[in-house]
Amino acid sequence: MSASLAGRRVLISAGPTFEDIDPVRFLGNRSSGRMGFALAAAAVSLGADTVLVAGPVHLETPTNVRRIDVRSAAGMHAAVLAELPADLYIGAAAVADWTPRAVASQKLKKQPGVETLTLELVRTADILADVAAHPLRPRCVVGFAAETGDDAELARYARGKLERKRADFICANRVGVAGSGFEAEDNALHVFWNGGERRLGPAPKARLAEQLLGFIGERMPA
Ligand code: C5P
Repeated sequence: MSASLAGRRVLISAGPTFEDIDPVRFLGNRSSGRMGFALAAAAVSLGADTVLVAGPVHLETPTNVRRIDVRSAAGMHAAVLAELPADLYIGAAAVADWTPRAVASQKLKKQPGVETLTLELVRTADILADVAAHPLRPRCVVGFAAETGDDAELARYARGKLERKRADFICANRVGVAGSGFEAEDNALHVFWNGGERRLGPAPKARLAEQLLGFIGERMPA
């Protein structure tokens, strides 16, 4: 078995999404995009033709990666689906689950005596699930699951996502603990697939990305 991705087309989504409320405000999250960017760099080093769909992040594009910048969950959904077919899709982005029903065309103003503001949010489309259900489904679809909670909960959530989203691998990582998850330099992953699981790390995200892609590359159907 070889971990080479030579000649394979790898599509990766990374970073947060920003959901606009009005021309100056948005709903975002704390994803730095570093795990997804590290995966893109590792894919190139294994010989893949690599496309990175990036939410709003302050990171350099890895060498030889084609990068497409997006802002919102809807923009990321459209960009990812437009890049199919691919051999491998990795959804490493922290996609907003909710977006404002409407974007105000003017900045929302405070009104004297009005102490509350109600925002109506609607569900976003699930990119990972839509890629996995697509007629051009990549032969390997990988999702992430950033979770708080203990090991048993992490495993339960990850296995639930594997099935619900019809992914081949779910990489769970704990957020809210030191040395893992958003904004951290290092990460630790617990990878789940139908019939198995494997822990990777803790390690710097670049090293972990190489390990994860090597691992997935060896198990990708030909
Ligand atoms: O359901 P949850 O957001 O926890 O699932 C995480 C996985 O699903 C990640 O791989 C994430 O990129 C993906 N996802 C997505 N589209 C969404 C929400 C999550 O692709 N709207």
